Amino acid sequence: MGEERIPVSRPDLTEAEIAEVLSVLRTPTLSQGPKLAEFEERMAAHLGTRHAVAVSSGTAGLHLAVRAAGLEEGEEVLTTPFSFVASANVLMMERAVPVFVDIEEGTLNLSPQGVEESIERSYRRSSARLVNRETGRRLAGLLPVDVFGHPIDIDGFQDLAERHRLWLVEDACEAMGSEVLSRDAGGWVPVGRRADLSVFAFYPNKQMTTGEGGLIATDDETLARRVRRERNQGRAEGAAWLDHLTLGYNYRMDELSAALGVAQLRRFEELRRKRRDVAARYGAALAALPAVRPPRAEPWARVNWFVYVVRLPREVARAALVEFLTRRGIETRIYFPPIHLQPFYRDRLGYGRGAFPLCEAAGDASLALPFFNDLTEVQIAAVVQALSEGVESCVAVRP
Ligand SMILES: *Cc1c(COP(=O)(O)O)cnc(C)c1O
Repeated sequence: MGEERIPVSRPDLTEAEIAEVLSVLRTPTLSQGPKLAEFEERMAAHLGTRHAVAVSSGTAGLHLAVRAAGLEEGEEVLTTPFSFVASANVLMMERAVPVFVDIEEGTLNLSPQGVEESIERSYRRSSARLVNRETGRRLAGLLPVDVFGHPIDIDGFQDLAERHRLWLVEDACEAMGSEVLSRDAGGWVPVGRRADLSVFAFYPNKQMTTGEGGLIATDDETLARRVRRERNQGRAEGAAWLDHLTLGYNYRMDELSAALGVAQLRRFEELRRKRRDVAARYGAALAALPAVRPPRAEPWARVNWFVYVVRLPREVARAALVEFLTRRGIETRIYFPPIHLQPFYRDRLGYGRGAFPLCEAAGDASLALPFFNDLTEVQIAAVVQALSEGVESCVAVRP
């Protein structure tokens, strides 16, 4: 067979998905039909939330979620710099201000303690609202992210949000199928059940896909109604096509995507089991390479990994290693270059290197390996072998 390229990700699709999408094409209803309703019902049942509202992408979902939460222009939101850029972008879209807090080293997520300290340090109370001591802006809410699929400490965040009267929007776009042990809920609960609004994404590299797509989960009827209206051009439910009650967007999920989602969700236990098996095999293979640290889950988390990100030793020149692996036909990706160091955020918010040392250290040393459900034992061995050789040969000359 010769050298076969190993991609960094690949969706897990079968004849069942193909049949489900084709069935839509045999009808005249390509948008706002029965598949959307079915997908939403199944997702709500799967997550155990009262409402599930499917949208055209995870980013669209986050955008509608922060608007529904009540975000206003000029307000601040505490969020993580170690994330995909969309979690901060949706705040900028509303002319609000993302205020980054450094991550916690183990999970690479925000911790409630870290966020609490940041509140104590930077905000004062003024008539029941928190106001930034320096900027004078109000703190509106919290937007933590389940990075790489590892859940946030949801009990801690809920408590924090309640005590400070902040809304809580969870970016669960990387965490479909992960579970968190919650004392408040009395056991294991799926990620996405507990925040005011939680948002999922179904881009083809996620744990399940609809092509492009996303979904907002909430128990709150009013919030659900608002995001439904705003995804559909501000039309009230049941309103005529050209009656627009409020400002809105076209963030609808089409029937083809919803059908794909229905088929993927039917197979979800299988998808999760396959993903877990690949992660376990990686873990075992990487045990022979102690310099490279595999991702780890806290005891209170059952992680359905989105990407498989290893931490490289400090002395390895990552760019050279990426190049080395590419030459071997192994595709990798750098998750994440910190958001605060992206040009737009440097320019707009004035951040620079050194602002968030733990985030930057993680960003400098991490590498996502090929990770998808059908990755074979042989491919895993090939990746780990190449990684082992690469780590040896790509040691940077130290200053
Ligand atoms: C994938 C992802 C999103 C949303 O992505 P879309 O491409 O818009 O579906 C948002 N936040 C995080 C952290 C993500 O990984």
